[in-house]
Amino acid sequence: MQDTLISLAYLVSSVLFILCLRGLSSPEQGRRGVFLGELGMLIAVLATLVKKEVISYEWIVAGLLLGSLIGTSISLKIPMTKMPERIAFSHAFGGLATALVGITEYHKLRGLFSELVVHAPVAGEHTINRLTMGALGFEVFLGSLTFTGSIMAFGKLQGVITGAPVTWKGQNAMNIGAFFGTIALLVYQVAFPESAPTWMFVVMCASGLTLGVLAVLPIGGADMPVVISLLNSYAGLAACATGFALKSNVLIISGALDGSSGFLLSMMMSKAMNRSFANVVFGAFGTAEGTAAPSAGGPAKSFNEATIEDAAAVLTASQTVIVVPGYGMAVSQAQHAVRDLAAALEKRGTEVKYAIHPVAGRMPGHMNVLLAEANVPYDSLYDLDMINDDFARTDAVLVVGANDVVNPGAKTDTASPIYGMPVFNVEQARSVIVLKRSMNTGFSGVENELFFLSNTMMVLGDAKKTILGLVNEVKGGGGH
Ligand code: NDP
Repeated sequence: MQDTLISLAYLVSSVLFILCLRGLSSPEQGRRGVFLGELGMLIAVLATLVKKEVISYEWIVAGLLLGSLIGTSISLKIPMTKMPERIAFSHAFGGLATALVGITEYHKLRGLFSELVVHAPVAGEHTINRLTMGALGFEVFLGSLTFTGSIMAFGKLQGVITGAPVTWKGQNAMNIGAFFGTIALLVYQVAFPESAPTWMFVVMCASGLTLGVLAVLPIGGADMPVVISLLNSYAGLAACATGFALKSNVLIISGALDGSSGFLLSMMMSKAMNRSFANVVFGAFGTAEGTAAPSAGGPAKSFNEATIEDAAAVLTASQTVIVVPGYGMAVSQAQHAVRDLAAALEKRGTEVKYAIHPVAGRMPGHMNVLLAEANVPYDSLYDLDMINDDFARTDAVLVVGANDVVNPGAKTDTASPIYGMPVFNVEQARSVIVLKRSMNTGFSGVENELFFLSNTMMVLGDAKKTILGLVNEVKGGGGH
């Protein structure tokens, strides 16, 4: 009876996870989706806690308290702009947890280094079948890879590790060789689960840990979004494999959902960034082998620095304006001010649209979330494909803290690490107003030619402050 109830609870959780993903596919339903996911997780955890396999609660309660304390304090302290780092950190712990569960399970079933134990194993003491061995192998390999890969991603996002691609000759061959070598070890262990030496299992864990580092090292700053969603997918697949090893349906379903949705997201992001997905999986795609990352050095170039009044004059003289938000809008929390500026311009009869790049900001959908929070109507937001031809017919573009996603070098400079990434054709507009604090580079560390073009005006300063000034000017009737 208790088992039936627990299975039923797992079924409810699984349905809630599916509804959660469905909700997350639209900004209007997003909040509800998150709530359903949380509810599903709560039900799954409670159902697991009442299982008869749980013989004592002390360690569980201690872990629960410690985990909740760390999770809550991190979440309360971390600003919205640091979300990707927070996510990378969570993936790292997810990967570590699955790897440790896999190692423990393997030890239980086979005994680590059992062949070195002097006494002969008692019959039935250490038995493992092929399916369980395969599931444990995947779990431990992907879990360890996710752990170190996510720590590397965290380091790159945080700036502790260089954001520039680190590449060397023969890197692809090395990564691919290590990957297939590990798969060969796994195949052998699945074929001979009882007799395969345990050093193979240990090497597989070590290889997962090493490949996590090697796969992320060559990824350039601007390509991190794909890596993060891919690591998310690996964490899900590792959890799914754990489900097979522990014979837990809810883990199989939730892991598969996480793994497949993360995988799809990675493929969509690769497409949006015009990157080969195969290269993302095997690494060394941030820059061509042997190509050095460009430096932002060289003689200082001249640019048009403008005042808030100059920018307001251009905006009020425009019939059509496209706003291009980027990471800087998130940093300065300028989304409400942007909405007020758009409203003030629309009141004067100006048409205002928003151009949303798939990798603007630091997480997928970052700009959509911020603008939805400021109640910007969803139908004013346009994807890259929908709006890129409109720039040539637009009077003014207002770039709010965006940099890489408006870098024309991505279309022309073959040596650039962001070469090939689709970018907005902002330079084709009659006037471009760029709001940022300095002439510094964006996330990829690449200099942006846009800032030095004759039709670009740079208004330097915090985006929110500048936009509040612009709202004032526009409302005050700055002149046609
Ligand atoms: P970028 O990081 O290229 O540029 C952001 C710009 O905002 C900076 O140049 C900075 O210039 C400016 N800025 C920062 N703070 C402020 C402020 N308070 N006021 C005004 N400006 C400010 O951002 P984009 O959105 O153009 O591009 C996103 C980049 O991040 C891409 O390279 C993408 O690949 C990468 N990425 C995206 C992820 C995603 O999932 N979306 C995840 C990880 C990385 P200054 O310092 O001079 O003010």
